[in-house]
Amino acid sequence: MLSESTQILPLVPLRGMMVFPHMIAHFDVGREKSLAALEEAMVKDQQLFLVTQRDAKVEEPDVTDLYPVGTVSKIKQLLKLPGDTVRVLVEGLHRGRIINVDMEENPFVTAMLNPQRNEDSAEEDDLECEALMRTLLELFEEYVKIGNRVSPETLLSVHSVRNPGQFADMIAASILVNIEDKQRILETFDPKTRLQRLHEMLSREMDIIELEKKISTRVKQQIDDIQREHYLREQMKAIQQELGEKEGNTQEIEEYRERIEEASLPEEAKEKAEKELERLTRMPMGNPEGSIVRTYLDWILDLPWNTETEDNLDLTRAAKVLEEDHYGLKKVKERIIEYLAVRQLTHTMKGPILCFVGPPGVGKTSIARSIARAMNRKFVRMSLGGVRDEAEIRGHRRTYIGAIPGRIINSIKNAGSKNPVFLFDEIDKMSSDFRGDPASAMLEVLDPEQNNSFRDHYLDLAFDLSRVMFLTTANTLDTVPAPLLDRMEVIRIAGYTEDEKVNICMKYLIPKQKQEHGIESDKLVIRKAVVRRIIQQYTREAGVRNLERQIANICRKAARKIIEKPEEPVKLGTRNLKEFLGVPKFKYDKSAKTDQVGVATGLAWTKVGGETLSIEVTSLPGTGKLELTGQLGDVMKESARAGMSYIRSRARQYGIPECFYKETDIHIHIPEGAIPKDGPSAGITMTTAIISALSGIEVSREVAMTGEITLRGRVLGIGGLKEKALAAHRAGITTILIPDENQKDLPEIPDNVRNKLTIIPVKTMDDVLKHALVRKPVPIKSENKIPAGPPVSDNHMPVNPTIQ
Ligand code: ADP
Repeated sequence: MLSESTQILPLVPLRGMMVFPHMIAHFDVGREKSLAALEEAMVKDQQLFLVTQRDAKVEEPDVTDLYPVGTVSKIKQLLKLPGDTVRVLVEGLHRGRIINVDMEENPFVTAMLNPQRNEDSAEEDDLECEALMRTLLELFEEYVKIGNRVSPETLLSVHSVRNPGQFADMIAASILVNIEDKQRILETFDPKTRLQRLHEMLSREMDIIELEKKISTRVKQQIDDIQREHYLREQMKAIQQELGEKEGNTQEIEEYRERIEEASLPEEAKEKAEKELERLTRMPMGNPEGSIVRTYLDWILDLPWNTETEDNLDLTRAAKVLEEDHYGLKKVKERIIEYLAVRQLTHTMKGPILCFVGPPGVGKTSIARSIARAMNRKFVRMSLGGVRDEAEIRGHRRTYIGAIPGRIINSIKNAGSKNPVFLFDEIDKMSSDFRGDPASAMLEVLDPEQNNSFRDHYLDLAFDLSRVMFLTTANTLDTVPAPLLDRMEVIRIAGYTEDEKVNICMKYLIPKQKQEHGIESDKLVIRKAVVRRIIQQYTREAGVRNLERQIANICRKAARKIIEKPEEPVKLGTRNLKEFLGVPKFKYDKSAKTDQVGVATGLAWTKVGGETLSIEVTSLPGTGKLELTGQLGDVMKESARAGMSYIRSRARQYGIPECFYKETDIHIHIPEGAIPKDGPSAGITMTTAIISALSGIEVSREVAMTGEITLRGRVLGIGGLKEKALAAHRAGITTILIPDENQKDLPEIPDNVRNKLTIIPVKTMDDVLKHALVRKPVPIKSENKIPAGPPVSDNHMPVNPTIQ
């Protein structure tokens, strides 16, 4: 009645599971129809048809609720469980496809099906199958290794199976989780296709596991980190609570926030400050970066972005202040007042920058300080001496470790206002090297077009320097870079005469030092004559710095005496001066006591003011060598040679045998060899000394001279006449010879010095000799026999050849 290809069996629908052929499985049965099916099977040959429900929730499935393929299984064991449940142990036999289902006729469901009994007997020696099985096995082993979800026994049994279909079923049963996947394998009758499908599924599964693993490690790591940080923070909080501090750095951050709000910063600075604060907020406590951010914020907040002092515009008061602080300097004061007047009218600080040029100690710095006082502005001073690194002016970028702002921003911070009087001291001492050119940074600072947005490298914010009043000082203008010099209005302060120094000392330095040392005015009496002696014997300078130092010395010693004997005022006379200052350091009158042969006095100009220069020449029998000693510069040496050539061309006129240069060596020496000397202005002095040495005529000790010489004996102009005149006056010289061209500079010389000096302008060497030599040389008429060089005696007095 049934054909070979059909089979009728009681059907048990399965929920959420399936049974593969050759596999043992167990499940519990509770539904009435299923129990009835079991009974029927037990009565017959214990065979059942097990098929999975598409939806596990359906209580009474009909044919559409069931998958079309199931497994014919044999019941191995039944176990009654409490209640109406039976546990069934079955073994899968083979697949079967449903042809028809009968739900009505019996109390159980009957399935007519098409069994697939021989499907597993595929050719076992099919090579492709074999290959598929091997790769699948490899994959499976790997899966077992990483997945940890299959027992080793299963692995063993998989190894032992040779039948491809059965092999695939076994793996599918042990690895597949999803019912649909399992069902797909069940429905694949062809073993080779089944192997392929399973391979795909397994690979996918492996990928998923791999991914799962990755995700889980990541999640675990994250959780670990979060937990760790949380734990540490909690601990920190606890510690802070113990110490009575507010939580974390919030207190500090709040303080910064308030300060930023209150500081009324410019837009750019405010944004930057807020950004940095934001960074700080996000930083965990104790991060070393934190202190860098805090320093930076402090800098921004400490700068006087909007703080300005109010200018005092009263010129009369300004003039009074300048007068109060400084003696003399009439022209300088006038120019300052004019300068201030123009600034007021134009309402800006634009325009040239004042540059005070002069030797040390003449009051350049203190005048600048007075200007600040007169204008009621803050005063800051920055020395440029030895500055060679641009970063000193402009700061280092914040990327450098330990970076700080440059000195300009630092000074502005110290000033506490954005419009101080800012003095750049010693602008001539700035140098440049590989670390950048500080002069170019200075140019930017001093340029009114650019300095309203000066950018320090560290701050990296534009700061407005246009309200600052810049002043500069220099000892000499030779080394000031030309572009800088262009921007400056030069005010020269040449140095003081002795009388001026006496006055400055009496009226300013002594009262100032007394006050600084806490000495009441009448407790220390210093007379004018004493001051003069201090100036003459204890100082040699153009300014009054050392003089002030000596006064300070006196005050210190006096203070001690006053403490010891409070009733007795200290009186300083010329006699007890040594007691206070020790032995005199300088012999005042430097000019020689007698007229000498071969010694002439020159006037030199150095950075520290004017100097007298004694030039000595001696002539010896020899071969016509010219020797120069005493640290002379190249220009000075050339000047000496020019003088020699001139003398050769005029020898006879000066009573010097013409062939002197062949048989006489000449040695020029300028004492105080440690000081380098250079320049052409000693030309006429050297020539005079040589002529004196060769002719044996003395040079007047009262005459000093300055001037460049040409080969034809013309006298050319020189610089620094005022300083030179002051030096001559200081040295007790009565007559000075100056180049005719320099007459224009005469008004610069203070009246009292000019009145005491006989100033003679000279045009030629003949003029010079007329005034310098004590006698006129007697010209040699015809070629005389030359004496064997002038004999050298101890006092270097050569024998005058013309007298023989
Ligand atoms: P510089 O800057 O030119 O080297 P300073 O300004 O330091 O010189 O001056 C040195 C000292 O001399 C200061 O104490 C200053 O007050 C004082 N001084 C200089 N010139 C005068 C002057 N004309 N009147 C009063 N004091 C002066």
